[in-house]
Amino acid sequence: MLIGALEAGGTKMVCSIGNRQGEVLQRASFPTLSPEITVPQILDFMSKFDIKALGIGSFGPLDLNPASPNYGGIRMTPKKEWQGYPLLTVMRDELGVPTGIDTDVNAAALAEATLGAGRGMQSLLYVTVGTGIGGGLIVNGQVVHGLVHPEVGHMLLAPADGDGMPDGICPFHRHCLEGLASGPAIEKRWGLSSKLMTKDHPAWDLEAGYLAQMCANMICSVSPEIIVLGGGVMQQAHLFPRIREKTLALLNGYVDSDRITPEGIVSYIVPPALGVNSGVIGALLLGAKALRKAQEGEE
Ligand code: ADP
Ligand code: ZN
Repeated sequence: MLIGALEAGGTKMVCSIGNRQGEVLQRASFPTLSPEITVPQILDFMSKFDIKALGIGSFGPLDLNPASPNYGGIRMTPKKEWQGYPLLTVMRDELGVPTGIDTDVNAAALAEATLGAGRGMQSLLYVTVGTGIGGGLIVNGQVVHGLVHPEVGHMLLAPADGDGMPDGICPFHRHCLEGLASGPAIEKRWGLSSKLMTKDHPAWDLEAGYLAQMCANMICSVSPEIIVLGGGVMQQAHLFPRIREKTLALLNGYVDSDRITPEGIVSYIVPPALGVNSGVIGALLLGAKALRKAQEGEE
């Protein structure tokens, strides 16, 4: 049985066809232009296959309140043409299949918790560090939505001593995580592409310190069983040992767990086990979940 997966991103829309086991069989990608141009391309691709459900992991913020008339729609976003766009409704009505939606990072978190680094665990934090920073959270085996949905990327941090850009670049907040530690923040601070920085560049120590603050804050506030860090910036694999070390230093022995030790933390703060596929696999799982729900409704 085929399921469609849409990873709706700010720069591109990645459409995939897969199955309920999370295997990806076909893929196509379209640049994110206006909905008038891009949505027909997505629908055209999806209609070529006999999909029984669709899952969407989308950039946000999204309206995820099931009681809201614009459930599954895009809320206020800098991408003006997409503001208020009813993504879920359009896809579901045009394709005529059960459709599930969540944020891109919640989809990735779901995939890592179900089939990846957090298999068998009940809680997981997934954070992507790229053009922006976003976090998806699983607690008690469920994706956390709460009031709106968590905005881990905008948690406020203590600027590091000696940081030449201590306020960061977020237009909304002073010294939030995304403003201090996203790819564009690194590039603005140092005037150099983060991809071109060598391992010994001072940018990385600062970066690891900010990501460690986030990890320490999340460990203290939600106590996830595992933290998965993905996104372009985390391609710098040398960041992992530094983040682990700094997280331990910040927590200073306070959290009593064998995972929060020099040995345990190696398998506690980790890269995505599903690599770059967490998002698409998460979207497939959201599609499968929507299908199950529709079938239960029929019984
Ligand atoms: P997006 O967040 O747009 O979906 P990415 O997760 O690839 O995409 O993040 C893009 C950001 O990550 C850019 O700021 C880019 O400079 C940075 N980046 C991408 N790859 C690397 C890398 N290998 N090393 C360091 N920074 C990277
Ligand atoms: Zn912010």
